[in-house]
Amino acid sequence: MSSLLIFCRDCGKQVPSSQTKNGLCVECQVRHSVADLRDEHARLWRKRERYRSQNANVEQIGRQIARVEDRMGQRIKELVSNDREAADHLRRELEAARGQRYTIKGV
Ligand SMILES: [Zn+2]
Repeated sequence: MSSLLIFCRDCGKQVPSSQTKNGLCVECQVRHSVADLRDEHARLWRKRERYRSQNANVEQIGRQIARVEDRMGQRIKELVSNDREAADHLRRELEAARGQRYTIKGV
Protein backbone atom coordinates (compact mmCIF):
# COMPACT_ATOMS: atom_id res chain seq x y z
CA MET A 1 0.00 0.00 0.00
CA SER A 2 1.46 3.30 -0.99
CA SER A 3 0.79 6.48 0.89
CA LEU A 4 1.83 9.89 -0.30
CA LEU A 5 4.19 11.62 2.10
CA ILE A 6 4.26 15.38 2.37
CA PHE A 7 6.15 17.83 4.56
CA CYS A 8 4.15 19.60 7.23
CA ARG A 9 4.38 23.29 6.36
CA ASP A 10 4.84 24.23 9.99
CA CYS A 11 7.18 21.74 11.71
CA GLY A 12 8.57 20.25 8.47
CA LYS A 13 7.95 16.68 9.56
CA GLN A 14 7.20 14.17 6.82
CA VAL A 15 3.70 12.75 7.29
CA PRO A 16 1.18 10.77 5.24
CA SER A 17 -1.00 13.20 3.30
CA SER A 18 -4.10 11.44 4.64
CA GLN A 19 -3.25 12.73 8.12
CA THR A 20 -2.81 16.34 7.13
CA LYS A 21 -5.19 19.23 6.80
CA ASN A 22 -4.23 22.46 5.03
CA GLY A 23 -0.69 21.09 4.85
CA LEU A 24 -0.41 20.69 8.62
CA CYS A 25 0.30 17.48 10.51
CA VAL A 26 -2.06 16.48 13.33
CA GLU A 27 0.33 17.73 15.99
CA CYS A 28 0.50 21.20 14.47
CA GLN A 29 -3.28 21.27 13.93
CA VAL A 30 -3.74 20.53 17.62
CA ARG A 31 -1.15 23.10 18.67
CA HIS A 32 -2.76 25.81 16.57
CA SER A 33 -6.30 25.02 17.67
CA VAL A 34 -5.54 25.23 21.40
CA ALA A 35 -2.97 28.05 21.28
CA ASP A 36 -5.25 30.67 22.84
CA LEU A 37 -6.45 28.26 25.54
CA ARG A 38 -2.87 27.32 26.33
CA ASP A 39 -2.01 30.98 26.92
CA GLU A 40 -5.10 31.33 29.09
CA HIS A 41 -4.06 28.24 31.03
CA ALA A 42 -0.56 29.63 31.63
CA ARG A 43 -2.03 32.96 32.76
CA LEU A 44 -4.36 31.31 35.28
CA TRP A 45 -1.61 29.03 36.49
CA ARG A 46 0.66 31.99 37.24
CA LYS A 47 -2.22 33.79 38.92
CA ARG A 48 -2.79 30.81 41.16
CA GLU A 49 0.90 30.71 42.10
CA ARG A 50 0.72 34.39 42.97
CA TYR A 51 -2.43 33.96 45.06
CA ARG A 52 -1.03 30.92 46.80
CA SER A 53 2.09 32.80 47.81
CA GLN A 54 -0.22 35.37 49.42
CA ASN A 55 -2.21 32.65 51.15
CA ALA A 56 -5.30 33.70 49.21
CA ASN A 57 -8.11 31.35 48.26
CA VAL A 58 -7.12 29.56 45.05
CA GLU A 59 -10.10 27.24 44.81
CA GLN A 60 -11.92 29.32 42.21
CA ILE A 61 -8.83 29.67 40.03
CA GLY A 62 -8.37 25.92 40.26
CA ARG A 63 -11.87 25.49 38.84
CA GLN A 64 -11.12 27.95 36.02
CA ILE A 65 -7.99 26.01 35.15
CA ALA A 66 -9.97 22.77 35.06
CA ARG A 67 -12.50 24.39 32.71
CA VAL A 68 -9.77 25.54 30.33
CA GLU A 69 -8.33 22.02 30.34
CA ASP A 70 -11.77 20.62 29.50
CA ARG A 71 -12.10 23.00 26.58
CA MET A 72 -8.65 22.04 25.31
CA GLY A 73 -9.71 18.41 25.47
CA GLN A 74 -12.90 19.12 23.53
CA ARG A 75 -11.06 20.96 20.75
CA ILE A 76 -8.52 18.16 20.46
CA LYS A 77 -11.29 15.58 20.21
CA GLU A 78 -12.73 17.48 17.26
CA LEU A 79 -9.42 17.00 15.45
CA VAL A 80 -8.42 13.56 16.71
CA SER A 81 -11.15 10.96 16.62
CA ASN A 82 -9.11 8.25 18.33
CA ASP A 83 -9.69 8.62 22.09
CA ARG A 84 -6.29 7.36 23.16
CA GLU A 85 -4.47 9.62 20.68
CA ALA A 86 -6.61 12.56 21.73
CA ALA A 87 -5.64 11.93 25.36
CA ASP A 88 -1.96 11.81 24.37
CA HIS A 89 -2.25 15.13 22.56
CA LEU A 90 -4.02 16.72 25.51
CA ARG A 91 -1.36 15.47 27.93
CA ARG A 92 1.39 16.94 25.76
CA GLU A 93 -0.39 20.27 25.42
CA LEU A 94 -0.96 20.47 29.16
CA GLU A 95 2.65 19.64 29.88
CA ALA A 96 3.64 22.41 27.50
CA ALA A 97 1.20 24.84 29.10
CA ARG A 98 2.42 24.05 32.59
CA GLY A 99 6.01 24.17 31.37
CA GLN A 100 5.52 27.75 30.21
CA ARG A 101 5.45 29.03 33.73
CA TYR A 102 8.84 27.49 34.44
CA THR A 103 10.23 29.26 31.43
CA ILE A 104 8.74 32.53 32.61
CA LYS A 105 9.86 32.09 36.20
CA GLY A 106 13.26 30.93 35.05
CA VAL A 107 13.26 27.85 37.24
ZN1 LIG B 1 3.63 19.71 11.86
